[in-house]
Amino acid sequence: MRLVDILHMNSGSGDSNSSYANNSLFTKIVMQKAAPLVKRTIKGMANQDKFFDRCFMIADLGCSSGMNTLLLASDIIKTVHEACQENNRKTPQFQVCLNDLFGNDFNNLFKLLPNFYKTLRKDMGEKFGSCFVSAFPGSFYERLFPNESLHLVHSSYSVHWLSQVPEGLENNKQNIYIAKTSPLDVLQAYGKQFQTDFTKFLQLRSEELVHDGRMVIVFQSRSSLDPTNDECSTLWELLTMSLLELLKEGLVLESDINSFNLPFYFPHGDELRRIIEEDGSFSLDDMDIFEVDWDQHDIECNNRGKKTTKSIRAVTETLFTSHFGNSIIDMLFKKFEKKLADYLATKKTRHLCVVISLIKK
Ligand code: SAH
Repeated sequence: MRLVDILHMNSGSGDSNSSYANNSLFTKIVMQKAAPLVKRTIKGMANQDKFFDRCFMIADLGCSSGMNTLLLASDIIKTVHEACQENNRKTPQFQVCLNDLFGNDFNNLFKLLPNFYKTLRKDMGEKFGSCFVSAFPGSFYERLFPNESLHLVHSSYSVHWLSQVPEGLENNKQNIYIAKTSPLDVLQAYGKQFQTDFTKFLQLRSEELVHDGRMVIVFQSRSSLDPTNDECSTLWELLTMSLLELLKEGLVLESDINSFNLPFYFPHGDELRRIIEEDGSFSLDDMDIFEVDWDQHDIECNNRGKKTTKSIRAVTETLFTSHFGNSIIDMLFKKFEKKLADYLATKKTRHLCVVISLIKK
């Protein structure tokens, strides 16, 4: 089966404990830390009539099913409104295009819309023009929008997902991601897949953005050129160890572990720079790098590891289920939670993030 047909974050909300919507505090913090660059980008567009004269078209790619995407949309709308007031111009209408894969729980987002529209009207007052939100399901590694129809593309914590598990990972036995014991060709296969995918992403978006249109993308990144450092691999090595315990207990097959690999890649800032330059459809206008503690929502919680386990489960469960079946999932994440709690008792953990702002040439 193709990745686009399998991958989606866990659906639901409310009482659905393992949903992405209920377990997306980490990505919310990431978005908040990237917000100053989004603001600078919009302010940088303010002196060009063509952006704000009619309907300002925004796309959020890999929006998922929680509140984060709507919080982002309202921040963008408020910043455009502010920029228009500063430049004595009328605030435009807005169209917000929400994109994610076909299996995404868009219905959960639609249910949040009445409140979103109400709050916008309340915060922005009578003079505010209209905002229209719509969904554009599909892979961002394919065309999603008509030619030159978008003004601002945003994507947070999504473009490090690859279009597929890289080919040539047969030697990555007993690992499920790039690990310290992974052979060099495995590292190279992941890097190459990222380069191919990100280049395609840039080319597709450059067809969809107007000339001078902007694109802000937030990635999980890494501080070292070496992709096997702890910062990138700890969580996945703990998951691998949990799977290997299930193997010892006879609950999973060794061949199933050997043939399973996770489809994401956390690029170094220099790698991004190089790919953008080589592709040539965008110029890199701005870049911020920041750290987020991935366990920070557990700080006041005695049961360390529990919330992070839920977040990781909300994001990866469909991949594990489609490969190993349903029956091991609870056990897998129970083992993972225990290992994570032991790990957190002695170590502090951070993810490095990079946010880039691009201008279409
Ligand atoms: N931006 C959201 C979600 C981040 S989770 C937030 O900050 O809360 C990453 C999202 O990217 C997931 O919902 C996943 O389904 C989506 N995604 C991964 N690969 C994708 C692809 N090829 N096309 C569209 N969406 C994708």
